Amino acid sequence: MTYDVQPEGSHFVNGKPARDAEGAELPVIYPATAERIALLNEATPAVIEAALAGAEAAWRDWAARPGVERGRVLRRAADILRERNEELSRLETLDTGKPIQETLVADAASAADALEWFGGIAAGVAGEHVQLGEDFGYTRREPFGVCVGIGAWNYPIQIAAWKSAPALACGNAMVFKPSETTPLSALKLAEIYIEAGLPEGLFQVVQGRGAVGAALIEDDRVAKVSLTGSVPTGRRVYEAAARGLKAATMELGGKSPMIVMEDADLDAAVGGAILGNFYSSGQICSNGTRVFVQEDVLEDFLARLADRTAEARAGDPLDPETTLGPLVSEAQLEKVMGHIEAGKAEGARLVCGGTRIGGEGYFVAPTVFADVSDEMSLAREEIFGPVMSVLSFKTEEEALARANATPYGLAAGVFTRDISRAHRMAARLDAGTCWINTYNLTPVELPFGGVKASGVGRENGHAAIEFYSRLKTVYVGMGGVDAPY
Ligand code: NDP
Repeated sequence: MTYDVQPEGSHFVNGKPARDAEGAELPVIYPATAERIALLNEATPAVIEAALAGAEAAWRDWAARPGVERGRVLRRAADILRERNEELSRLETLDTGKPIQETLVADAASAADALEWFGGIAAGVAGEHVQLGEDFGYTRREPFGVCVGIGAWNYPIQIAAWKSAPALACGNAMVFKPSETTPLSALKLAEIYIEAGLPEGLFQVVQGRGAVGAALIEDDRVAKVSLTGSVPTGRRVYEAAARGLKAATMELGGKSPMIVMEDADLDAAVGGAILGNFYSSGQICSNGTRVFVQEDVLEDFLARLADRTAEARAGDPLDPETTLGPLVSEAQLEKVMGHIEAGKAEGARLVCGGTRIGGEGYFVAPTVFADVSDEMSLAREEIFGPVMSVLSFKTEEEALARANATPYGLAAGVFTRDISRAHRMAARLDAGTCWINTYNLTPVELPFGGVKASGVGRENGHAAIEFYSRLKTVYVGMGGVDAPY
């Protein structure tokens, strides 16, 4: 079958597709069938240089424009993303394997939200005025210049938009490296920015594996780095940024707790656990993969969960009825199956799933383990697949202590009908985001990011502006200069 997704060039540099067949091959695989659907090349040093030089040449003019003009371009691009949502969703499904039912609402649509929202606030990016007697001072919120964005493979166009929209709103240029596994949709975003009127050079896409990302970060022209990826990669990228004393945002992994109190609406909690573990086949950084359920409702919770999970419909991701797609790659499939086997060997109780499904594709059945203890690898390691661990607890205090006993701190959730308890627990959970009676909703209006090993900095919301601009202080003397001699 032909899918017709081969891009005109592997990269997008200075307003047009760019090719350099000298770069190592990057095959693009459709995870549902394991077929190769496109072949790209990694960026050679010449492509990297062209991208950085073009970005460096472009950002000052862009930064000098009124914010309202920059915002208009972003909002126009948001409209185009929405007009082309169907085509972009199909592309994202082919690249990631996620069901079209998901990509239609969560990928290009979320990217459009980010462009629209940051387009809306671009005109309001400003410093402050401080009166100092007769003298006064003010701050200017200035762009960094050239920013580098590096993406993971689970939400390719969303990640590209969450990084580029605030960067461009603040007057920066961005050179973006998608994950080697999912390189296609960022090229479309670049094309759409140009169609919307973004001057060339401001959003460059270069493909490649980790070494291409590393080369970008090392370059002296780059002032800011934003990564979405795993904790080990985050440590490497943060170290490289620190060597150059560059600003950095790190959106990393997690092992987030979801706590179900005995007074919770159990059906809502089961829904939250399903969304927070099986949506996108579990390949979501903020997933609540440690589901703590209060002892008295544990068996009831597990029974309802098993019933609902049995309704998951694995199959052709392009079929609108499919609710469970494959994992993104063979490597991810092997990693997830390894975690499942380790869970069985450690003695956790397998409630459902635990096996591969389907033929050539990388499908894994939604898997629930109960009787998981804090020491098991299931409860400690980020699996990034459809594998839920259910743990039981007796008291609120115990749940909080165990929920926080992890090096990660990306997200957390609590299900309870007790309003005071909900806020008390949200305050005490070590996490960048806490959900109460829901899970995994990440609208662009709210800041998103981790604490502890889950990251540094915030994306989305007004907070993102602080991470894509820097302050300059200007002191204005209104009288003479009082020198000692
Ligand atoms: P990786 O950490 O493997 O890769 C992330 C990106 O970094 C890829 O583009 C990768 O290139 C690149 N990279 C790898 N090494 C380097 C290096 N030394 N210098 C610069 N760039 C490098 O993550 P995955 O793609 O496997 O994504 C899954 C991870 O992302 C999970 O841990 C997940 O939790 C996290 N994540 C976090 C989110 C958040 O917002 N907090 C959201 C989504 C995912 P390549 O892989 O192409 O070689």
